Amino acid sequence: MAFNRLLFGTAGVPNSTHRKSNPVEGVKQIHALGLDCMQLEFAHGVRMKEEVSSGLRKISYELGIPLTSHGPYYINLNAREQDKIDSSVERIIQTAKISDLCGAESMTFHAAFYMKDSPYDVFDLVEKSMNVIQERLGRLDIEIELRPELTGKTSQFGSLEELITLTKSVGSCHPCMDFSHLFARTGKYNSYQEFTEVLNVLKTELGDVALQNMHLHLSGISANSKGDLKHLNLKDSSFNWKDLLRSLKDYDCRGYVISGSPNLEKDALMMKEYYMAL
Ligand SMILES: [Zn+2]
Repeated sequence: MAFNRLLFGTAGVPNSTHRKSNPVEGVKQIHALGLDCMQLEFAHGVRMKEEVSSGLRKISYELGIPLTSHGPYYINLNAREQDKIDSSVERIIQTAKISDLCGAESMTFHAAFYMKDSPYDVFDLVEKSMNVIQERLGRLDIEIELRPELTGKTSQFGSLEELITLTKSVGSCHPCMDFSHLFARTGKYNSYQEFTEVLNVLKTELGDVALQNMHLHLSGISANSKGDLKHLNLKDSSFNWKDLLRSLKDYDCRGYVISGSPNLEKDALMMKEYYMAL
C-alpha cells in the first residue's frame, strides 16, 4: 500500500466500541473516532468465521480503514521440540491466510525466544522457518508483509540488528518497529537524536522503502533490566513519544502507527492530533 503520511490506529477493537467482540464494529468505531487504521489481534488464537473476514474486508474498503494483524503469542521458531516449531510455522501461515482474507497487507508476530541459545544459532533457525513460510505463502498466492516484531524482552529474538539482517535475507520480511519495546529492551533510544539514529540505520541498511512503508507499535511502557514489563498509557510513562513523532515526521516516514496502550484509542488520538499539528 502507498501511504502519504503516518496512519494511526489501535491494537485490536477500540475500547469504546459498543460490541467489543465484533471487529467489524471496531472498524466502524475507528472511522467514527477519526482514526485511520486498525490491527486485528489474534494473540490468543487464529480463529475467524469466513463471513467475519469478508465483512471486515468490505467495511475496511468502504470506510478507507486499512487493517494490519498480530499473530498468536504462542509462537516460538526456536522451540526445543520440532513439532512445536512446526506448529509455530502453521500459526504464522494461518494468521497470514486469515489476514489476507480480511485484506490486511502487513502482519506482525513475536518470532522466537532465545531459550539461552546463542543468538546466532537462533537467527539461523528463524531464518530457515521464515524461508519456508515465504515459500508456502507464495504457493498459496498470498502476498503479505511478514513483520517479526522488535520485541521488548531481552529473552526474546527480535533486536533491531536481527530484524535488519532478516529483512535483507528474506524477501517478504520487514521489521515491525516497536519503538517502545526498543526503549524497554535497551534502556536507550528515548531522545530525538537517538530516534533519528535508528531511522538513519533503517534507511542506510534497507533503503528508502523502510521509511516509506512502516508498521510501528507505540505505547507507554515500564521496564527493568530484562526489558518490557508492562504497557502503560503514554501519560504514565517516560517514553518520549512526542520526539519520536517529530523525528518520524522530519524523516517523512509513512505507514501504520498502532497504539498498544491500555487506553488504545485515547493514545492513538493523542498521537494523531500531535502529529497532524507538526
Ligand atoms: Zn506484539
